[in-house]
Amino acid sequence: DSPSVRRHQERLAAEGIDVVRVTYPDLIGTERARDVLLEHLPSACDHGLAFCRAVYHTSPQGDVVPVTGGLDAGLPDICVTPDLDTLVPLPWEPGVASCLGNVTDPVTKAPAPESPRDLLRTVLARCEEHGLHPVIGPELEYFLCEAVPGSPRGWRRYGGARGVVYTAGLRGDDDNHLLRVLRLLRDAGLGISGGNHEFDGGQFEVNLTHSDALSAADRAFRFKAAVKELARKEGRLATFMAKPFNDAGGSGFHLHLSCEDENGRNVFDDPSAPHGLSATARHAVAGVLAHAPALAALANPTVNSYKRFGPDTLAPWLIDWGLDNRSAMVRIPPERGSGSRLELRLGDAGANPYLLIAGTVAAALLGVLAGEEPPAPLEGYGYDTARSAVLPTTLSAALDALEADTALTDVLGKDFTASYLAYKRNEVERFERYVTDWEFTEYAHHI
Ligand code: GLU
Ligand code: MG
Ligand code: MG
Repeated sequence: DSPSVRRHQERLAAEGIDVVRVTYPDLIGTERARDVLLEHLPSACDHGLAFCRAVYHTSPQGDVVPVTGGLDAGLPDICVTPDLDTLVPLPWEPGVASCLGNVTDPVTKAPAPESPRDLLRTVLARCEEHGLHPVIGPELEYFLCEAVPGSPRGWRRYGGARGVVYTAGLRGDDDNHLLRVLRLLRDAGLGISGGNHEFDGGQFEVNLTHSDALSAADRAFRFKAAVKELARKEGRLATFMAKPFNDAGGSGFHLHLSCEDENGRNVFDDPSAPHGLSATARHAVAGVLAHAPALAALANPTVNSYKRFGPDTLAPWLIDWGLDNRSAMVRIPPERGSGSRLELRLGDAGANPYLLIAGTVAAALLGVLAGEEPPAPLEGYGYDTARSAVLPTTLSAALDALEADTALTDVLGKDFTASYLAYKRNEVERFERYVTDWEFTEYAHHI
């Protein structure tokens, strides 16, 4: 309502804010925004902001790719209405605050089918019908790159790629990039708990605190956008793509998942059950295992994603679970009690946080509703294909698995699934037609 908009406007003005950046995640999780001058905020809230309905990205051809009701319908509008409860200052851009917007169709006023934030809300409403409140803790890895003008890619790993996992301070981070990220993102209210140097030179991990699933997705989405923005301020590139370099491992987007009942009790905990894990926790693990090939289409959404998987990578390869076992796709961390949870190691950092979380929660819910039981947990360092199935090895195979998994797509919705499959199959097709450097090097001189 208007008086509350005016109150926000006055408070922002008193804080020295004169621009509000209204953002929303598109289908692939990219931040889309319009910058609104503060004096126009009431009008933006009354009428919403018009955005052209399509997903944009930088491909070698510079394409705009259709989503349902997008290019094929003449690029009509979607309407984005600021949600002022999500306002946060951008500490690295004085005078600017950012808020999320709700995405609707301007004619029907219904949520747009390709709005990932609304998809997550729908899945969470399904959980609530069953008295389940998912709790999510995201961990994200990324590579920081510095410019190398004139080189084929234009970028190389930051800091001479000296650091390894847990390298402290300047020894792996020449000018304290990580400290800057942690402090500025804390000041932006993103619920950061800490960070560290990751396994490969130039690679960092940041941990976000656990919370309800929508807030976790919002914070992970804003985190990725903020890190990319901060890196640009440093003249660098932060990339969340799954496997950017041939000589380094990939970047994961691990999700810690537990579930609370109406009273805030962790229903994954049961000290009297095997491994201290409740039946609900076991069913949730079984659901995630059963739907993993389809879930990969959301958790591993690019043609590059499948190059991160493999034995001996710390990224998964087989569809399995284990107790405190980092070679498994689902790891059960050692804490119990309120800390009983599963860690899904499937997702890569390129995933859209809303879709990764929605898909994971939906798969866990299906397991709980079906009362499915997982196999015995993996023991030791195991990459045994006789015991566990292999994850899809291409995006195309994962998209086929998603289409075939009607139990999962019933929860995600037919409209969303159709938009997503159309968009991603177009991506696969464009990639398959594109001649890569690898092909030229491999074939041009020898055959
Ligand atoms: N970088 C690994 C991945 O791609 C994870 C490493 C870790 O366990 O932190 O998932
Ligand atoms: Mg890590
Ligand atoms: Mg982890």
